[in-house]
Amino acid sequence: MPGQARHDKRWGLASALLLCFAATAAHAQLTDTEQRIVAAVKQRTPQALELLERSVRINSGTLNPEGVRSVGAVFRAEFEALGFSTRWAEMPPEMKRAGHLIAARDGGQGKRVLLLGHLDTVFEKDSAVVPWERRGDRVRGQGVGDMKGGNVIMLEALRALAAAGALDKTRIEAILTGDEERTGAPLERARSEMVEMAKRSDYALSFEGSAKVGGTDMASIARRSSGGWVLTARGRPGHSAGVFSPNAGYGAVYEGARILNAFREQLMEPSLTFNPGLATGGTSITYADDTATGTAFGKTNVIARDFQVRGDLRFLTPEQGERVKARMRDIVAANLPGTTATITFRDGYPPMPPTDAGRGLIALYSKASEDAGLGPIGTLDPSMRGAGDVQFVAPYTTGIDGLGAAGSGAHTDDEDLEIASIERGAIRAALLIYRLTRL
Ligand SMILES: [Zn+2]
Repeated sequence: MPGQARHDKRWGLASALLLCFAATAAHAQLTDTEQRIVAAVKQRTPQALELLERSVRINSGTLNPEGVRSVGAVFRAEFEALGFSTRWAEMPPEMKRAGHLIAARDGGQGKRVLLLGHLDTVFEKDSAVVPWERRGDRVRGQGVGDMKGGNVIMLEALRALAAAGALDKTRIEAILTGDEERTGAPLERARSEMVEMAKRSDYALSFEGSAKVGGTDMASIARRSSGGWVLTARGRPGHSAGVFSPNAGYGAVYEGARILNAFREQLMEPSLTFNPGLATGGTSITYADDTATGTAFGKTNVIARDFQVRGDLRFLTPEQGERVKARMRDIVAANLPGTTATITFRDGYPPMPPTDAGRGLIALYSKASEDAGLGPIGTLDPSMRGAGDVQFVAPYTTGIDGLGAAGSGAHTDDEDLEIASIERGAIRAALLIYRLTRL
């Protein structure tokens, strides 16, 4: 897709510029306090792995609230040991989600920093995936990378700051959600605490897994929205011999095909995707949401009455989303003779567009990494990451994601984590938090 290639090039250039900037600014030494922070992270490396194992061995699939709460209790104790006040944010029972762990330190020192993690995983109780399996310098298991490894990095960074006396008087809040993988409904309620915390924060750091591109660790300052649409077309049932005639019209399937083809021909642009995932058409159709299954009945000699498509829609800025939805509605409304069609949209995760403030934050993160001898951090193309919690805070604060562990196969049977990335991530995060809380 040519538009996509152009888009990639632009982002490649942007990250190259960032790398240059970071490289020229890389010679600053770590201060004494910063050196003590790094030493404190390194000293805890074996215990950090133990904490990870303890949290991973508790199954916490999103639909296993007891498990999510148990993992929450493990991390809650760690926050309290570091002088954070903590509470458990309950969700309404009808939401059928465990709720969130919230931790806070109140002070007046430097910028206000919000830390984001999640307690749940995609691995439900009946998962066949081995909970924890050490394989040399890697570990495989349920949610090791997504994102219990990230939670551990967050806590080890805070612990190192505490050990160096650098946590005193800082204003740091953290929320570890219990439903990141299958967000509770309604979304506004499920993320209301997070949004309130974002409104009183200067920066938000999210500890989802880090990515590597061409040997460089990458973080995200932009993520695309995630939402959906349903297209429904109706035709006049009749004998197939009359199709295309003014009386009988074109039928629902031709109308649906016209619309999908027009989307493909007219809408493609950088950072935008719209994927039709399921289509059914015929004389009559059904769809069951809980199983994502559709059926269709029809005969070749009957003009189709019903057609339905369910798709997703991902965009990078609110402006892009509104503009594209308007174009889609216009295309849908230009009906073939004898047909009608409607499209409805469902908003999920809001988009997190790239901003100058975000570029500034990733430059600080990259510099912290370089100063610690861990190399520069690049900016990940938003098309290379799915949606995540940091997007809910993006309208209110400056966010960055990907501060978590390095690994592969997130959400699959082979999800794994590079053990050394915990120490690396904790050093980088601790230095970044330290520097933000001195600004
Ligand atoms: Zn995650």
